[in-house]
Amino acid sequence: MKYLVGIDIGTSATKSVLFDENGTVIASASYEYPLYQPKNGYAEQDPEDWWTGVKSTLKEITPKATDGSIVGVGLSGQMHSLVLLDEKNEVIRPAILWCDQRCAKECGEMEEAMGGRDRLVAISANPALPGFTAGKLMWVKKHERENFDRCAHILLPKDYIRFKLTGEYATEVSDASGMQLLDVAGRVWSSEICETLGVDMKKLPKLYESADATGYITEEAAALTGLDAGTVVAGGGGDNAASAVGTGVCSDGKAFTTVGTSGVVFAHTKEPIVDFKGRIHTFCAAVRGEWHVMGVTQAAGLSLNWFKNNLAKDKTYPELDIKAAKIPLGSDKLLYLPYLMGERTPILDSDARGVFFGLSALHTQAHMARAVMEGVCYSLYSCLDVFSELNIKLDSMAMCGGGAKSGFWLEMFTDVFGINLHTMKLADSATLGAAILGGCAAGVYENVKEGVERAVKIDKSTAPDNKKHEKYMQYYKLYTGLYLSVKDMYKRLSAI
Ligand code: ADP
Repeated sequence: MKYLVGIDIGTSATKSVLFDENGTVIASASYEYPLYQPKNGYAEQDPEDWWTGVKSTLKEITPKATDGSIVGVGLSGQMHSLVLLDEKNEVIRPAILWCDQRCAKECGEMEEAMGGRDRLVAISANPALPGFTAGKLMWVKKHERENFDRCAHILLPKDYIRFKLTGEYATEVSDASGMQLLDVAGRVWSSEICETLGVDMKKLPKLYESADATGYITEEAAALTGLDAGTVVAGGGGDNAASAVGTGVCSDGKAFTTVGTSGVVFAHTKEPIVDFKGRIHTFCAAVRGEWHVMGVTQAAGLSLNWFKNNLAKDKTYPELDIKAAKIPLGSDKLLYLPYLMGERTPILDSDARGVFFGLSALHTQAHMARAVMEGVCYSLYSCLDVFSELNIKLDSMAMCGGGAKSGFWLEMFTDVFGINLHTMKLADSATLGAAILGGCAAGVYENVKEGVERAVKIDKSTAPDNKKHEKYMQYYKLYTGLYLSVKDMYKRLSAI
């Protein structure tokens, strides 16, 4: 038997999973680490913690490949976070994470330096966002000049782990897309952006496609992980691009939604499709020569989690589901905007905050729970609305993340989206996607699509109720109107 390993460098933990070539989980292990917030809006991690996590989880799972050998490794991980190494490969400062908001000012300056937002979007396919890597790098350049000058290698989290495993400085197109230094349509580093921002291109990692072999496990890494020296390490993918492979979202018309702490809607596109208004992200896919679009709700599962912890302490999620399911569609005219952490797409409004609208004396805890779930559905639907405006047509949608554990929420998503939804046999799609990419580099699969056919399995499918969809759309119109009505108030609130 041939085995594959998928490693996911998450924000809360690293997870490593051993799969056989049919996508069956043989063993898995995870290792948690802290996130540091030295100031309001800052978020940092120690890259050494990721490496400790990788070593410890691999040591645990590699001995379980008893009747064969591990032939390929794939990496997945949190996107955008900035890792700086010096000439001796020492980490210069803690990694500045994707969720760190310190570089809003530098983002404005970047767009200005490029001669306006449109030019940056034309090359990097996205407007300057504080979540992306380039803004973080510009912050270091301005505020920590010594660290910027000392830097010899600029890496992303999973690519730091690749360096530790193989000794190679390399990345791949899906994760590189989130750095804002890439010509996303051309799938090459952008000399125009790098020159404008003063980034030495020699410091950027070598760029591969996601299924390419990028290096081989060194003797030293083999001794520390239990992998065989010489095992191939594939490019891998940013967490969402890898999840797309793990859910089989690899051709036009296919899409997935994740409801974890944050929420994502993701659709594969054969061509690069860019929204010049910057309302959704466009990145390279892990499928050779293809792309994807993506929308993000910052507080998706987090909204229900917040509600449960503060306003329904006596209930479990399944109990809340049962209560909310008894409330009529529309929550008896109660609306919820899920902007507890500001909002990313499509409104790009970091000042936005949550709203319950239409509260009346008849509303109960169950009404509020249902309104929260409906609000999260509308928020992700508003990204799908942008997809359809861009003429991206969807045939099917996979549903992942903790929210997919709720049959009631799943049905609500199906009806709000008005599209067939299905769950996956394996919840952990990022590690499976990474492992499939590892299998491509090892020659187990000819390409990503063959790997998906062999290893990805759908669980249950649900079809939408069109009458309910129409009714939800009436509330959705009010939902989008509600945000526009209170938009200016957020600025005034944050200015007090
Ligand atoms: P992350 O990986 O981002 O930490 P998860 O994918 O574990 O998050 O999802 C956690 C979220 O899933 C919770 O915040 C909650 O909103 C939702 N969730 C988990 N279980 C259930 C359930 N049984 N019913 C409804 N929602 C659930």
